[in-house]
Amino acid sequence: MRPTSARVRPGLALALVVAAVLLAGCPAADPDGDFRPGAADVGDPYVPGAGNGGYDVEHYRLGVDYDPPSDRLSGRAVVTAVATQPLSRFNLDLHGLEVTAVGVDGDRARHRRDGDELVVTPARGLAQGSRFSVEIEYAGRPGTQVNSPLGSGGFLHTEDGAIALGQPYSAATWFPVNDHPSDKATYDIEVTVPDGLAALSNGVPGERSSAGGRTTWRWSERAPMASYLTTLVIGAYRVETGVHAGKPIVTAVPERLPATGPEAVSLARTGEIADFLAERFGPYPFDSYGGVAVSDPRVGYALETQSRPVYGPGFFRSGQPNFGVVVHELAHQWFGDSVAVTRWRDIWLNEGFATYAEWLWEEHQGGRPAQGTFELHYAMTDWSAPSLDPGPEHMFGSAVYQRGALTVHALRRAVGDQAFFAILRAWTAERRGGNGTTDDFVELAERVSGKQLDGLFDAWLYGTTKPAVPQPR
Ligand SMILES: [Zn+2]
Repeated sequence: MRPTSARVRPGLALALVVAAVLLAGCPAADPDGDFRPGAADVGDPYVPGAGNGGYDVEHYRLGVDYDPPSDRLSGRAVVTAVATQPLSRFNLDLHGLEVTAVGVDGDRARHRRDGDELVVTPARGLAQGSRFSVEIEYAGRPGTQVNSPLGSGGFLHTEDGAIALGQPYSAATWFPVNDHPSDKATYDIEVTVPDGLAALSNGVPGERSSAGGRTTWRWSERAPMASYLTTLVIGAYRVETGVHAGKPIVTAVPERLPATGPEAVSLARTGEIADFLAERFGPYPFDSYGGVAVSDPRVGYALETQSRPVYGPGFFRSGQPNFGVVVHELAHQWFGDSVAVTRWRDIWLNEGFATYAEWLWEEHQGGRPAQGTFELHYAMTDWSAPSLDPGPEHMFGSAVYQRGALTVHALRRAVGDQAFFAILRAWTAERRGGNGTTDDFVELAERVSGKQLDGLFDAWLYGTTKPAVPQPR
């Protein structure tokens, strides 16, 4: 839903102004009258209902306890946020699960559920600009969320544990969250599971402790992270912990898969591939590296979960290593994760660059040059499907991936290699830890290259006829 305030009829607008003046002049006005509810979603038409308005989350401190045999999760979340308007109440997204207590700044708060919304009314209104913390205690059997183009997502109960994963959302199945990439935050995540099982998540691993037959795994992500990039993988995994380029690297493969199988061999090149990309995109943006392979066939995709992508089993079905998918998910650490979309209509900024990274890797490995891959896709592309604003049902379509990558290469041809890589590095440096839109990218590309490029981006991103290939001068 979108507020309709921009489309008020003139007569009604005048009446509203008169009413506002009358109210403002009324000495008996309620002193709390300024406080108003935060919006129940962020107004992104690709994900109706997702995210909320009225505040900006800075940090999530999550403590979850999961028992695989009963599929029961109990959690405590402390959400630190800043009010972006005077708030009488606000929403968090939470799918299923029962909330038993909510507090705001240490005082008990009223709460109710409205579908996937948790509506919190603090004892007192929250002033605009004030920092507040919300404590939520909750429990239950977590559920899945349908991410139709990608297959199953949300919280999947597996044979030996669970996998929480999914784009464009999944986080609300295991913690209360402002579930939209426009509100990034840092995270501390503690997961308690039965001894002998691993509990993998995002960021730098912390100390592990055991008590009463249960082990608590600790993870900390200090770079702002979009909520759909959080993950939780619980089960019997072979976990490898090491150091790469001075930072922790954690990879994991299910114990049931061979130690030298294609998953392990592919993930073992994570550090090397991240270095290859860093030479082209700028410094690796996070404090840790890694990756997790899962064997549950419901995960029909790989996802660039921050600092630790998760790879579904389909990529290794041939029995051969798959480095292309590792390149793709690691490229997202710059394009999609460190610099996230503000609205899903711009998802080509994620997928176009991750696909282009695969082209670069293939060339680097002595395979087809990027120019050759460009020519191949240029010949087969359906130009009637736009890359920018493809529509929610096509957000994972080939216009986003291949046409997005064609656009990236067209830019390279138009500005030359030196300006092209300078543009990529400027984008990842200037927007590191934040968000960006297509307009922001075009503006930056024009500034760095000194060329006018809006016509090029219009034609390559959403023109309906085959665009002319820019000829380098
Ligand atoms: Zn991708």
